[in-house]
Amino acid sequence: MARKKISKTGVSSTARSRVTLNPKLARRSFLKLSAATAALSGAAMTAKMTGKANAAQAANDMYPDSQMVRSVCTHCAVGCGINAEVNNGVWVRQEVAADHPVSRGAYCCKGASAIDMVTSPQRLKSPMKRVNGKWQTLSWDQAMDEISAKLTEIRDTDGPDALHFNGSAKVSTEMAYLQRKFAAFWGSNNIDHQARI
Ligand code: SF4
Repeated sequence: MARKKISKTGVSSTARSRVTLNPKLARRSFLKLSAATAALSGAAMTAKMTGKANAAQAANDMYPDSQMVRSVCTHCAVGCGINAEVNNGVWVRQEVAADHPVSRGAYCCKGASAIDMVTSPQRLKSPMKRVNGKWQTLSWDQAMDEISAKLTEIRDTDGPDALHFNGSAKVSTEMAYLQRKFAAFWGSNNIDHQARI
């Protein structure tokens, strides 16, 4: 029985002759394959672009009667521009204000998530108190009673300067004004903005 010759590469001469390609055919196949690949890539790209366009159109169609309201982020004093999309009185989406003179179409992560202050399911809606490591919801009256009793106790025991009032980057100018007034009526100058610490 004739034995097949095996080359050093482990491929028989018969097998090698089967896989050796005619250069002309190989070139033609290569060109065909390239053309097919290009056509497929083009089709895939077109499909992708069409998908994006459809998604953008669907997003546009979601609130056909909405209005774009110019606003600013209130998280800090920079006041970056926000274009707030309002539908039927509800803030539904936001975009950067590309023509804002300060932020010029950008904002930080706080501004980017500004709408969450309104729509996030995790938004804090009532006072909370931690009791034995667990958070409990309080009524506003209960929270006011407990906090004012504690503050009065501190002032009676250690004087008004035993307290430090801390401002916040998240409050408005009006709220900051009220904080300052409250500290003054309390009897202390111990007030500053949280950014300084
Ligand atoms: S987007 Fe950031 S930098 Fe701009 S106002 Fe809001 S918090 Fe300040």
